[in-house]
Amino acid sequence: MNNLSELRIELVKGQKLAMQGSYQRRAPLKKAIPHLLVARKGLKDYVTQYPTNALAWQLLSEAEQYLLNYNEALTTLQNVLSLGDKDKKLLKRLAMLTEYGSRWQELEMTSEQLESLEIYLQEKLELYGCNHTLIYTREWLDINVLSSKKSKVVRALQNQGGFCDCEVLMNVVD
Ligand SMILES: [Zn+2]
Repeated sequence: MNNLSELRIELVKGQKLAMQGSYQRRAPLKKAIPHLLVARKGLKDYVTQYPTNALAWQLLSEAEQYLLNYNEALTTLQNVLSLGDKDKKLLKRLAMLTEYGSRWQELEMTSEQLESLEIYLQEKLELYGCNHTLIYTREWLDINVLSSKKSKVVRALQNQGGFCDCEVLMNVVD
């Protein structure tokens, strides 16, 4: 696949199947991944061949974003900007990617871990409700995160509005 419009169609297919919602802290749904990978591979080849094609860089950046590679998404978007295309939408995306990237990094949790925490909290809160503490979040962290990292993760969760279990569920992992 080396035609840009075909690659774009493939990317859009993957984006539609990804079901990531607006914050994109979640991994794309499994059925989306092959499309996103094909699009990314093709776009990478394409920009190697046509390094001044801003649209190709932009699409590549979107593919990386959907695959949750925020650093790569940022670098590729910077290439678009360095080619001279500095419209407002792109600058807004740049700011958004920077923010997502740093949040993600601060949490130091994989999307699989976030999903596991989400399921854990849903079950516990359904049974016992939220008592305005992080008791179940801490339980999950005890089992799944190195104890030396725990307080850092708790701070990162609070930075994102998670001061009790129901807020972690609502503001961070969901
Ligand atoms: Zn609560």
